[in-house]
Amino acid sequence: MKPAKFSYHAPGSVDDAVALLGQLASEDGRILAGGQSLVPTMAFRVAQPGHLIDINGIPSLGTLSVAKDRVRIGACVRHAAFEGKTAIPGPTGALLGKVVRHIAHYPIRMRGTFCGSLAHADPASEWCLVAATLDATMIAASTRGERRIAAKDFFSGIMSTALAEDELLARVELPLLPAGTRFGFNEFSRRAGDFAMSAALVTYRLDGGKIVDAHVGVGGAEPYPRRIAEAEGALSGQAPGDAVFRAAAEAAANAVEAMEDHQTTAEYRCDLVRAVVRRALEQANA
Ligand code: FAD
Repeated sequence: MKPAKFSYHAPGSVDDAVALLGQLASEDGRILAGGQSLVPTMAFRVAQPGHLIDINGIPSLGTLSVAKDRVRIGACVRHAAFEGKTAIPGPTGALLGKVVRHIAHYPIRMRGTFCGSLAHADPASEWCLVAATLDATMIAASTRGERRIAAKDFFSGIMSTALAEDELLARVELPLLPAGTRFGFNEFSRRAGDFAMSAALVTYRLDGGKIVDAHVGVGGAEPYPRRIAEAEGALSGQAPGDAVFRAAAEAAANAVEAMEDHQTTAEYRCDLVRAVVRRALEQANA
């Protein structure tokens, strides 16, 4: 099948892009970033946008930069920018470099964007899990100016976010993790490159041998990824070890309201959550 007819727009600046979006959003005008999710759905005519606003020709959106305490990721920064040696220091760079290899396949990572993944908000998206677990901030731009949205307020359901239809996700800010932060990531998918059926990302530090500042995020199990306070509570103030990790994994499995589909029961997904959280914690402690 071929996509339905649409008009193509190629703005050269963020101001022009948000002006076009403000004008065309009501006619199903959509941003085109990497196109790795949008174009296949257009090819199947699941999506039939009247207008595509291609942001790839806006140089300022391609910037990946590191400030004192945060990483700034522009709307056109590709997944592949996080692979191999990057300018992102410390545990944050290592964490992003580990997670990125689980996203699709290399050709898709060369084109798909970090911000596009967040705007698309697939429940199983690895970058959505990273944003939720690390408490990212999303910066949305429109003709009304910019607004900052905390990760906990950004995701609102399966493939839905707090972005208004006329807002461009201009960039995302991730806090730089302090030196000494331990992290672990684990996901379960049927084949390499497939979307995860469940995934977990954990970070914590040790203070006097006890776990502090624990973040436990779970993706793929519920409509959108989130931090699991019950699992974080089970870790906090404890020395890392098998019994503590099992307790945190159990708390996570009990806390999620897992999705079901024609292939997967909620009970099975909860089992996966238990497994991926425990494995991520073990990896952080290795
Ligand atoms: P696009 O496809 O261009 O856009 C997606 C949607 O987001 C559109 O509605 C678009 O209008 C909107 N949008 C995009 N950017 C913005 C913005 N800056 N502001 C506002 N709205 C915006 N993803 C994973 O996370 N994990 C996987 O394992 C995975 N596997 C995949 C396997 C295959 C075979 C394919 C084809 C894709 C896979 N993906 C996976 C999806 C891929 O990561 C996409 O790149 C990503 O989901 C969307 O990013 P994009 O830049 O391609 O966005």
